[in-house]
Amino acid sequence: MGQERGDGQRAVLIARPVRPVVNGVSLDAETRCGHYHGPLDIIAIKMRCCHAYYACRECHDELAGHAAKVWPVAEWDQAAILCGACGAELSVQDYLGCASRCPSCAARFNPGCANHHHLYFEPI
Ligand SMILES: [Zn+2]
Ligand SMILES: [Zn+2]
Ligand SMILES: [Zn+2]
Repeated sequence: MGQERGDGQRAVLIARPVRPVVNGVSLDAETRCGHYHGPLDIIAIKMRCCHAYYACRECHDELAGHAAKVWPVAEWDQAAILCGACGAELSVQDYLGCASRCPSCAARFNPGCANHHHLYFEPI
């Protein structure tokens, strides 16, 4: 009732009781995977090609069975990042502007992920 749902832009920062399904290899409860499992590796990324959440691009490429697509700049307002600590979804824009810290729960994200942005987001 008082809760915004659907396409509301701000809804991306609201932690939901039910999290989207995350796919990956050897996942833990905070979306770490067999490839990236450091303390800060707690985000999952929705891939542009299949709109499914994966713990990382390597998980996608091992499991999805199709070529990955990156998010074009024009779609960076779409919710595509999941905080594994609190379950909040961030848009690509919010994620790139969050200084490696969840805007919802303040959990730290791995700043080293910036080296891999081209695997998920169109380079600018
Ligand atoms: Zn895909
Ligand atoms: Zn992985
Ligand atoms: Zn969070």
